[in-house]
Amino acid sequence: MQSYDLIILGAGTSGAYLAKRMARRGHKVLVLERLPRDKVGTKYDIFHIERREFDRLEIPRPTEGDPAWAFEFEKNYNADPLTKFPKCQLNPIVGLHMHEYTLLLIEEAEAAGAVFKFGCAFEDFLFDDKGKICGVKAKQRGRELTLGARIVADCSGMAAVGRLKLPDGYGVENTPLTDEDMFYVILRYVTLKDPKDYLEGSTFWAYYKTWIAPCADPHGAIIGIGACHSFEYAEQIYAEMEQVVPLPDYDLVRVERGRTPYTRNVHSMVADNFFVSGDAGNLTKSVNGEGVTSAMVQLKMATEVLDRALKLGDTSRKALWDVNRYYNTTQGAEFAMLRALLVGVVNAAGFDEFQYVFESGIISDELLGALSGMPVPPEAILGAAKGFVAGIAKKKLRPATIKAAALAFKNAVEISNHYKRFPATEDGFDAWCKKADEIYERIGKIK
Ligand SMILES: Cc1cc2nc3c(=O)[nH]c(=O)nc-3n(C[C@H](O)[C@H](O)[C@H](O)COP(=O)(O)OP(=O)(O)OC[C@H]3O[C@@H](n4cnc5c(N)ncnc54)[C@H](O)[C@@H]3O)c2cc1C
Repeated sequence: MQSYDLIILGAGTSGAYLAKRMARRGHKVLVLERLPRDKVGTKYDIFHIERREFDRLEIPRPTEGDPAWAFEFEKNYNADPLTKFPKCQLNPIVGLHMHEYTLLLIEEAEAAGAVFKFGCAFEDFLFDDKGKICGVKAKQRGRELTLGARIVADCSGMAAVGRLKLPDGYGVENTPLTDEDMFYVILRYVTLKDPKDYLEGSTFWAYYKTWIAPCADPHGAIIGIGACHSFEYAEQIYAEMEQVVPLPDYDLVRVERGRTPYTRNVHSMVADNFFVSGDAGNLTKSVNGEGVTSAMVQLKMATEVLDRALKLGDTSRKALWDVNRYYNTTQGAEFAMLRALLVGVVNAAGFDEFQYVFESGIISDELLGALSGMPVPPEAILGAAKGFVAGIAKKKLRPATIKAAALAFKNAVEISNHYKRFPATEDGFDAWCKKADEIYERIGKIK
């Protein structure tokens, strides 16, 4: 049987990025990808990466003329439901073609020595006589393969084919997501009829969870919506939005649909000889469900831990535990906090209240900066608090909404602190999960 240090399930952005980093450290890496090479990353076309992430994550940065490059912009507007008081944040964004960019990451991984088997689907794990994962069974062109591995990494996206096959109690949750744990995303690629409407940047309407953003065609746009429950529900919200928001006149070119996890990351991302990342571990941003770079943040930390474990010859859950600790005390804590805040505020506030907070200036540029990871100055928080009090006095904000927002703030602080106290070893993990689940129960899910 052929054996590898690391077998990665899935050659999406997460799997390809991990393959490159581990192969560069001298490990024998095999990536199994269900799709043929010319179909990887074709689940939709355009995705975004914040420009500052390229250096931080050490990933290739395509520029104009490269096949993966589509466009760039830096104006990001957040708008009230009536689009009368939009607020602008400057944050350079690069639009990329998913298929071409994934191929770029795969080529980098191959150059580093990783081997890819395309058209080869993971089917199940192999277990040793102690019941520990020691490889995988896969199928390529009707042929059964058995392959040995010291670690198997599940990067298979929302299918989570490895995680969901884990035996109960193996050390990572093996439950599938429900409809309430994901965003149903619908993208309308359009051409704009009037040149005065050509886009300079993106606009996001939090009330409708919809946006309009540039696309590869400078005379076009992508109008997107992400909603829980179902694609039908997302279409319903979109129809409501179209009645109110003054969208530019457009011709529809095509529609793309997809789903992205919109729930907390799995509490433990490691088990004996096993690791999970990307959409398979729900590592998407709690602000918008984007998951390419947020997974890479975890993968960059995880590379150090997996590398060390392989070199020391101990790939047990205990030896891989630092992945959980590093991630949950940093980005995990930040995402948990933002999730609690967003769910509380978005669920509680009505149309008029959303309109009022923009109109009155309670939502300041500084507060919105938090959504793109900027620190919020204390004066901005104090200003917002005063604005809320004035809003109640003027009967523009319902006391129940303020109460819900205050509760969301309390939950946000509590869950963030809880993540920052993530146990340094497996001891205390069960108690940590119980408490985290209690807080999440209070936080609830986005409507
Ligand atoms: C419409 C839409 C727009 C989005 N826009 C953005 C954006 O602008 N920015 C952003 O950061 N994120 C965005 N996201 C989220 C982002 O696409 C995902 O978070 C990201 O692609 C996840 O990468 P991944 O490598 O974990 O999974 P995937 O990209 O899903 O890759 C998983 C791979 O595993 C393979 N696989 C599955 N089963 C098996 C098997 N049995 N054996 C072997 N291989 C298997 C699949 O074929 C696939 O190639 C968007 C999502 C949607 C739906």
